[in-house]
Amino acid sequence: MMLSSPDLMCREAVELMSDYLEGSLSRRDRRRLEKHLAGCPLCTSYLEQMRLTIAASGSVTPADLEPEVLDDLVELFHRYRESPDDT
Ligand SMILES: [Zn+2]
Repeated sequence: MMLSSPDLMCREAVELMSDYLEGSLSRRDRRRLEKHLAGCPLCTSYLEQMRLTIAASGSVTPADLEPEVLDDLVELFHRYRESPDDT
């Protein structure tokens, strides 16, 4: 059994989140995203941050998904995976 690549990369997951929160995601993509979220605490917390942003601003637009935000997420993800602290 191969554990090479997840169905959805974190970066893809983040890109789907705005549509997900707006309810405009296709059923298929929504399932892929929810599957990713189930196994990725980082994206789960990021999604929660997006919810708070939407609650504050009233909407989420592609402008909210700045490239540096994605880079931050990827960096956090790498740190998370590299952490030897798995107790
Ligand atoms: Zn993720």
